[in-house]
Amino acid sequence: MSRLVVVSNRVADPETQASGGLAVCILQGLRQHGGLWFGWNGLIVEEESDIRVACTRHDNVTMATMPLTERDFQEFYLGYCNKGLWPVFHYRLDLARFTQENSESYRAVNNRFAESIAPLLRQSDLVWVHDYHLIPLAAGLRARGAANRMGFFLHIPFPPPDVLVAMPEYEWLINSMLEYDVLGFQTKTDHANFCRFVFGFMGGEMLSKDTLLVSGKRLTVSVFPVGIDVDDFASMAQTPEAEMRIQKLHRRGEARVNIIGVDRLDYSKGLPDRLRAFKRFLELFPHHHKAVTLMQIAPPTREDIQAYIDIRHELEALSGQINGEFGDYDWTPVRYVRRSIAQETLAALYRGSHVGLVTPLRDGMNLVAKEYVAAQDANDPGVLVLSRFAGAAEDLEEALIVNPYDADEVAQAIQRAIVMPRKERITRHRALMKRIRARDGRKWMESFISALVADRGPDDLHP
Ligand code: UDP
Repeated sequence: MSRLVVVSNRVADPETQASGGLAVCILQGLRQHGGLWFGWNGLIVEEESDIRVACTRHDNVTMATMPLTERDFQEFYLGYCNKGLWPVFHYRLDLARFTQENSESYRAVNNRFAESIAPLLRQSDLVWVHDYHLIPLAAGLRARGAANRMGFFLHIPFPPPDVLVAMPEYEWLINSMLEYDVLGFQTKTDHANFCRFVFGFMGGEMLSKDTLLVSGKRLTVSVFPVGIDVDDFASMAQTPEAEMRIQKLHRRGEARVNIIGVDRLDYSKGLPDRLRAFKRFLELFPHHHKAVTLMQIAPPTREDIQAYIDIRHELEALSGQINGEFGDYDWTPVRYVRRSIAQETLAALYRGSHVGLVTPLRDGMNLVAKEYVAAQDANDPGVLVLSRFAGAAEDLEEALIVNPYDADEVAQAIQRAIVMPRKERITRHRALMKRIRARDGRKWMESFISALVADRGPDDLHP
């Protein structure tokens, strides 16, 4: 069996497995195949000459990591990746900033990754590259003679052609994607956006459902929706500790109905719009005052970027406003928690909440939506209110699907979720459980690896 080589910006810690479900999934795949995981170790050094690759072995998995320089961190990671690619790929051209320095740094870091990985590669290795930080990595490896099968999975959305072409160097970026044998997207929408670009701007064509021919190259382009370990999450929500946390939540909270939101504090998550919708709900349904609380968990992220500072200020002003206007000595309508909460605790909070409010303006998949479903009590489940712009909405049809920009619609959906009869809640929850099981984390990984292994016959570009 071929060895699997995973490359991503950050790597998981194989000792603690503290990096969340997806990382654990990848680790399991690596253990199955035997493999190597290459990525940034999260450390910063001053000079490029201080950079060394460190390898540690954990059974049959080797973790190979290296630091970035301060300049890489500023220009590659914060600059090109998170002030450029992230907003463009989330349809936010208004927030995107590109500079020559950042672009050069993106190329340089990708080249350095390629330079460091190439000597570690064996001929039969399958190479699986993750996410927007490393789009041109295959091109760098190919330039160094690697003829391996290589796949790329994009964890975030892929924008429509009209948005993409507003980005400098979009042609270079897309051409570098064509160096892979397999391209994976989260949703049909992302897949379609990519194909529309390749058909319209590059004269590409589909040879079969998933086989694309463009610029004389054939590649597999397909949808692989990311999922969670459903049983793992469900059992986390049912431990005696979880039960204690739920009781505490219900006892401490003054309200009878808990709504929960869990999101990194990112502008793509639509948090101010969510609070405006909650405010609208309080205006439209005053009889719920003192009975309903929204707990919003929002750990800060990328705090060096102005757009993230701005969104935090906006969220804090709004929650203060709502609590000032509607709250009372015995009721706080919005409980805003600006810290990261461990998943075991989250599982209990999901289970103890009657409504899961997941309303991003644009999101690759959104695992919180799936975790909320997995954590529910099957006999008395809560209701998921889900933005149509989350990747998860393509599949989770039995959620209450909403337009996050429409405060009235979201307010009505919250009301509908709160008064929904138990029978309907159970029917919807059963259907949703079936869906998240059918597309869980293991399937995501296995189906991508199968596509990567698949033999495409004599006119393979990289036999
Ligand atoms: N998460 C967490 N603690 C928090 C907030 C989030 O462990 O305080 C986890 C959450 O359980 C989920 C992940 O972070 O597994 C967020 O994934 P999602 O796809 O929803 O959004 P992303 O942050 O990747 O955009």
